[in-house]
Amino acid sequence: MSTSSAAEGGGGARAAQLADRLGRLRERVAAAAAAAGRDPGGLTVVVVTKFFPVADVQALAGLGVLDVGESRDQEASAKAAALAAAHPELRWHFVGQLQTNKARSVARYASAVHSVDRVRLARALAAGAAAAGREVDCFVQVDLAAALGGPADPARGGAAGDDVLHVADAVAAAVGLRLAGLMAVAPRGQDPARAFAELAAVAERVRRAHPGAVALSAGMSGDLEAAVAAGATHLRVGSAVLGTRPGAR
Ligand SMILES: *Cc1c(COP(=O)(O)O)cnc(C)c1O
Repeated sequence: MSTSSAAEGGGGARAAQLADRLGRLRERVAAAAAAAGRDPGGLTVVVVTKFFPVADVQALAGLGVLDVGESRDQEASAKAAALAAAHPELRWHFVGQLQTNKARSVARYASAVHSVDRVRLARALAAGAAAAGREVDCFVQVDLAAALGGPADPARGGAAGDDVLHVADAVAAAVGLRLAGLMAVAPRGQDPARAFAELAAVAERVRRAHPGAVALSAGMSGDLEAAVAAGATHLRVGSAVLGTRPGAR
């Protein structure tokens, strides 16, 4: 043990733990791709760092992580600002429910927003992107609980029915926004394979109007294999790398 501070020793142990878990995640993703007969190069892993300190994001950046996910504007903007100089390569993905009045702030630092579920939010993001002179990739979030015939899940967000296409149209029409594709969270207690198959079906319908909207953001720590099998291009993985979230909601 070095004689330096406990914090430094703890940081080293934490970095080693993150490296170990990240390595295992990469193996897991490669195995999922192989099982689905897919090229792992077609998969982007977004490591969701919400509720964890900026030191963890820095350690992950040092391990080659390029894509990080956050779910609250205040936390995300502070982390992005703290790491902008040291890690300009980091791409920030906003994955949580987003209030319209936070859209302008998010458009300043986010490369992608995975949770666009209202036309009004799309317009607010477009205004923010224009003001910042940036382009933001947008995923339209689909409420799979509603799509599978259950009640909509307001806590999770997401558009249902024809609204999915309306939001996609609004994103595609907006200068400063790029329609990447669709995003969803598998509803609790549902078979994720069935949920992601439904997402793929909705995506096929959206692509008839927007052929370039080929990205599919699906799959988290607990269900990424099912998502890869269903054609996910972006996996949003938090706890498998960072551990149980402190004070998780
Ligand atoms: C927190 C979060 C994740 C990561 O979930 P884990 O189960 O920790 O992998 C993925 N997507 C969204 C939308 C999230 O809010």
